[in-house]
Amino acid sequence: MDTDYELDGHEDFQATMELNRRQIPEEQLRKFEGYMAEMLTALGLDLNTPATVDTPRRFVRALYDSTEGYDGDPKLLKVFHTECRGGPDCRLSQVIEGPIQFFALCEHHALPFHGQAYVGYIAHENIIGISKLTRLVRLFAKRFTVQERIGQQIADTLDAMLHPHGVAVYLEAHHLCTQMRGVREVAPKTRTTFWRGEYESNPELRAEFFKACGL
Ligand SMILES: [Zn+2]
Ligand SMILES: [Zn+2]
Repeated sequence: MDTDYELDGHEDFQATMELNRRQIPEEQLRKFEGYMAEMLTALGLDLNTPATVDTPRRFVRALYDSTEGYDGDPKLLKVFHTECRGGPDCRLSQVIEGPIQFFALCEHHALPFHGQAYVGYIAHENIIGISKLTRLVRLFAKRFTVQERIGQQIADTLDAMLHPHGVAVYLEAHHLCTQMRGVREVAPKTRTTFWRGEYESNPELRAEFFKACGL
């Protein structure tokens, strides 16, 4: 499975995925569970009940699963060729997908932030399946990260994969590290946008993108 990433011609966008495949030996995982048991107990959780005896193991497992974006996604490799004639249609028709739900862990607190992504691009020679846009969002969200970086990575990777005329990414998310600790009574959504190519210079395209997203 892993070697899928070494296929010829895919190297140019592998770098933008910034993968960091984990290999954590069973013995080390046991150790982490021990640390978690110690922390959770000190914080007030009674681990001596049938419901909680396995909580340290489940917590470590949940953290691991929530950050599987580091391991990559072999289904993200397939790119289709189109025939771009370079005409006005080619430079203006947008492919837009959203809302795409995502869950991420903030790198400052290791607590979740979650929200929705909208991704658009203007195809040139390559396109990818719509479902791949969802996979791309999750590839970068399921890590310890920040909202700005997720957007940049999505935009840069789409750019490298498809060489499109433009890429647009809009993210809005609630950050639990702010909300859970009561820093703000009503926490607003944090919104970020990223533009590449034609979108950078064309306000009409940006407006059309937002309109298509219902924003
Ligand atoms: Zn945070
Ligand atoms: Zn084109």
